[in-house]
Amino acid sequence: MGGKAGSRRKAEGTLRVRRWRVVIEAMLIVAAGMLLPLALAFFLSWRVSINAQQDRVDLLASEAVAQALSVFADARATLHAATETELPPCSPQHIALLRDLMANSLAADNLAYVDDDLVRCTAWGPITRPIQGAPVHAWLPDGIGLSVNFAGTILRRWPVMVIKLGKHSVLVAQVRFVLQPTDPDARVEVIAPSGIALVTAPRKAGEAEREPPRAGDLVASREAEGWKVTVRLPRPSFSQQLDATKYLLLSVTVPLAVLFGGIACWLMRRRLSPRGELELAVRQHEFVVHYQPIIELATSRCIGAEALVRWRRPDGTLVGPDLFIPLAEYTGFIEPITDQVLEAVVADLGDLLRNDRRQHISINVGAADISSGRILAALDDKLARTAIEPQQIWVEATERSFVDIEGARVTLAELHRRGHMTAIDDFGTGYSSLQYLQRLPVDALKIDKSFIEAVGTDAPTRHVTDHIIAMARELMLQIVAEGVETEAQADYLRRQKVGFAQGWLFSPALPAQEYIAFCRANRAAHGVPEVPPAFTIA
Ligand code: C2E
Ligand code: CA
Ligand code: CA
Repeated sequence: MGGKAGSRRKAEGTLRVRRWRVVIEAMLIVAAGMLLPLALAFFLSWRVSINAQQDRVDLLASEAVAQALSVFADARATLHAATETELPPCSPQHIALLRDLMANSLAADNLAYVDDDLVRCTAWGPITRPIQGAPVHAWLPDGIGLSVNFAGTILRRWPVMVIKLGKHSVLVAQVRFVLQPTDPDARVEVIAPSGIALVTAPRKAGEAEREPPRAGDLVASREAEGWKVTVRLPRPSFSQQLDATKYLLLSVTVPLAVLFGGIACWLMRRRLSPRGELELAVRQHEFVVHYQPIIELATSRCIGAEALVRWRRPDGTLVGPDLFIPLAEYTGFIEPITDQVLEAVVADLGDLLRNDRRQHISINVGAADISSGRILAALDDKLARTAIEPQQIWVEATERSFVDIEGARVTLAELHRRGHMTAIDDFGTGYSSLQYLQRLPVDALKIDKSFIEAVGTDAPTRHVTDHIIAMARELMLQIVAEGVETEAQADYLRRQKVGFAQGWLFSPALPAQEYIAFCRANRAAHGVPEVPPAFTIA
């Protein structure tokens, strides 16, 4: 008993270790459950705003190229009108015409008449001192010459484009070609058909020509009729984005994060609960089966074993069935556990059972499986195509299984019909045992170890053992004595002609391979019987 209390303490210790792991895991789940929706919402709104910025840049680029083309078309029309005149160059009438054309053009800031590379007159009047004409950077197919970024003497403050046809030139402040976007962060660059980028800002000494493009800017370019326009917008920064989306993040994601956190807490509590741990153990097949030899008392031969389940925790510790079978019965996990025990028996001892038809394995079956009859289907399923015979699998049921006595009767009768042995486990510890005995088709009784313990002592239950044995004999039931620890107990049982016994006197429950070795040694010591042992179905 002391050993059992010790193993219980050990099991509780391992439960605590695992509990810490679950708490840490759950905290990670809570953190992830709250952070992931936040991060996702932030990322999505960032993507959305980048896409919106990109759309804006695209639109600005289209508008910007349209602006450059329309200013250029206006300037060119003005220039063609000027070249069509036949008035004497720089005559008062000619200058008046130039002034009129300038006044009626949205693009032209001035018109000039150039001859011999010298400006002779402008829309403002004749030139008194000589002014050099602008050098042409590029000629267009229609004979128009372009001079870009000209810091001339006529328009001194703004860089101008000089557009030349024949002896006439139109001067356009380059800032007119460039769309002025409302967004102060937007940068527009216009490249004229000459391939030269237009300088637009009034030039001050020491000022850099253009802001260099920044990595990560959102960019859009458009080209038309030799003009190329590029618009840049800085990508929204992390903090700008956080600022812009804080209400969205708060209103949408906080409830979401709370929900996720709640789910994680709920999952954690479920997993932390003994029920949750058992569920996980079932799902991960954490059960192993040990086998306690059953000895024929008259010959000392091992005729089979009782399958006793253990829960092997992921850290390798074994938890005894007393710690989880009651919970498993209560929660219904006993059914998959029974299935896993059957699977283990087939895998562990299939060869042994096929080679020695006198060997049997006794299975403990939960109350619900007996009253519902589910055990029949489970046996069908697990034993199919294993060549293990029904009489090699015994079924032990406790008196708790007989609360629904009619259900139990039907199941036990069917088990008996198929050839399975059935035994009442822990006999004598329940209530109204005699009533069950008369009404249920069982083959054997297992005398609970508390009665065997009382043998040879002056405990008040010591006489009960005699009565149980007498009663079993009367009803022609086989008897298996449990918990035999001493030779004195074994001698007593032999004297009483009890057929079978199990207990630490013979062997504790053993892992499969050790049980197979035990059988081999037992056979060598006691020989193989010529006829099957007396333990057959009544
Ligand atoms: P049980 O069916 O009465 O099993 C016998 C228990 O007595 C086993 O404990 C066994 O190890 C222990 N025992 C064997 N010989 C001795 C001995 O000489 N002295 C003492 N003091 N004890 C001995 P275990 O393995 O801890 O199993 C405890 C109970 O758990 C079992 O009692 C059975 O009711 C239940 N159980 C075990 N395996 C299963 C299973 O696969 N399914 C179900 N439903 N219940 C199981
Ligand atoms: Ca049992
Ligand atoms: Ca028992």
